[in-house]
Amino acid sequence: MNVNIPATNLPRVVVIGCGFGGLELVKKLRHAPVQVVLLDRNNYHNFQPLLYQVATGSLEPDTIVAPIRKMFKGQKNFIYRYCEVTRINAGSNQLETNIGPISYDYLVIATGSQTNFFGNKTIEKAAMQIKTIPSALNLRSYIFQNFEKALLMNTTYEKEELMNVVVVGGGPTGVEVSGAIAELKANVLPKDYPELDFRSMQVYLIEAGPVLLNGMSAEASAKAKEYLEEMDVHVWINAPVEKYEDGKVYFGQGQSIHAETLIWAAGVSGTALPGLQETAVAKNQRINVNQFNKVEGYENIFAIGDCAQIVTEDTPRGHPMVAPVAMQQAKLLAKNLVRILNQETPENFVYHNQGAMATVGRNKAVVDLPKFKFQGFFAWLVWLFVHLMSLAGHRNRVITFFTWVWNYFTYDQSLRLIIRPYWKEPRKKKGDASPEAQGNETPQEKPQPLASPDLQSAKPAEPLPPATDTSPPEAPKEQQNQPPQNLPPVA
Ligand SMILES: Cc1cc2nc3c(=O)[nH]c(=O)nc-3n(C[C@H](O)[C@H](O)[C@H](O)COP(=O)(O)OP(=O)(O)OC[C@H]3O[C@@H](n4cnc5c(N)ncnc54)[C@H](O)[C@@H]3O)c2cc1C
Repeated sequence: MNVNIPATNLPRVVVIGCGFGGLELVKKLRHAPVQVVLLDRNNYHNFQPLLYQVATGSLEPDTIVAPIRKMFKGQKNFIYRYCEVTRINAGSNQLETNIGPISYDYLVIATGSQTNFFGNKTIEKAAMQIKTIPSALNLRSYIFQNFEKALLMNTTYEKEELMNVVVVGGGPTGVEVSGAIAELKANVLPKDYPELDFRSMQVYLIEAGPVLLNGMSAEASAKAKEYLEEMDVHVWINAPVEKYEDGKVYFGQGQSIHAETLIWAAGVSGTALPGLQETAVAKNQRINVNQFNKVEGYENIFAIGDCAQIVTEDTPRGHPMVAPVAMQQAKLLAKNLVRILNQETPENFVYHNQGAMATVGRNKAVVDLPKFKFQGFFAWLVWLFVHLMSLAGHRNRVITFFTWVWNYFTYDQSLRLIIRPYWKEPRKKKGDASPEAQGNETPQEKPQPLASPDLQSAKPAEPLPPATDTSPPEAPKEQQNQPPQNLPPVA
């Protein structure tokens, strides 16, 4: 096997990653006197801001991705290789990849970020992520698998455990996904699962800091919380999550919630590749770069986007890990590479913050622009428009537009499909009485009220309707592997 990259007299710029940064950089180098070699472990660009809609069944995954080869069709100086880069050997200007070594004259690292569990192994093992297309599809399957499983449970406690959803992290992703799940609960799930009592399903959003949407205006934070609470999401702030044990999420001052679905949207770190010298990599795995994105200690290696940080007095923790930073750095780096080739001085990066926005649900969004802020229906339209126009490819925009229109008028996201079931390692419950630990045995019903039993110490109990456990009595063990007998016959 050989990587078979054509030899050329032009300087070779190798770009690792076709995210927002890599994509923009390669586009902008279209007419530069260089050979551009793009490497990515996925053969598509992923529009991460809409991943949560894939995870909650609103959009198909192929509407938010774009095939790399199609996007650069006709770009003469462009080569793509589908591979994973595993190491940088800066001394020999070579990369190690799973398809063989690839050499470079200039290297641009645009590998993005990864989910950060802050070393918490119990959370890492239990939590679902929304970072990649496969992880979003896993979450979609898992949510609907849990509802299918809830139908088979005998006790209210077990049903609650499978129906409850806990989202950790009150940034835009956490706000958007908890809002989307609240809408599923309000509009879709009760129609699909009329046998389940939806008072048993609670959606929680837990944030360690004092506000949601930290980094946006106080109005946006407050409004997002208000919207979520209107949508029946239990929002907890100042409540760091400690661990996940025995099916419970422990957080805040000793509170806990029992939930199978724990979604972690509470942090990301950089993705520095092995081989860079220690001083070039910060603790958070972001790569230290100078004001024009050159990696500290190297003359021909650059890093852009989420994986890079320019630390200055104004940005002591680097720029925010958002798409516009990656794209603006890419645009400037494309110009700077040409300047460097022409032995001119490169320009420093200045971030032009165009504002921030987040949607909470139907007709509800918050928008902070540099000069004014607004919330509500108009903000939601702006959010829709900006996201639609930012998607790569006309086909994706058209399909997404019609899907959104359909979802809006029918209140019926149609994609609650379990195409590729997601199986978690079975969790051992105390006393090994769980269905997972003991084949199909079910634990005895715990004497608990209907909803959020574990939160009673933390919050005055809300008056809840009485529990009506409509599930069938526990079947004799020998019958438990059989299909349920008390359901109406199907045609
Ligand atoms: C759920 C979610 C929602 C978000 N919402 C918003 C939003 O609303 N607005 C906003 O501005 N930002 C949002 N962001 C952040 C935004 O997506 C990132 O800031 C942006 O993607 C960063 O671009 P990037 O080019 O640095 O990296 P990425 O876009 O992450 O791209 C990295 C690329 O590198 C590839 N790669 C990584 N390692 C390797 C390797 N070793 N070998 C080969 N290929 C590799 C990956 O496959 C990927 O294609 C969101 C992020 C997430 C996860």
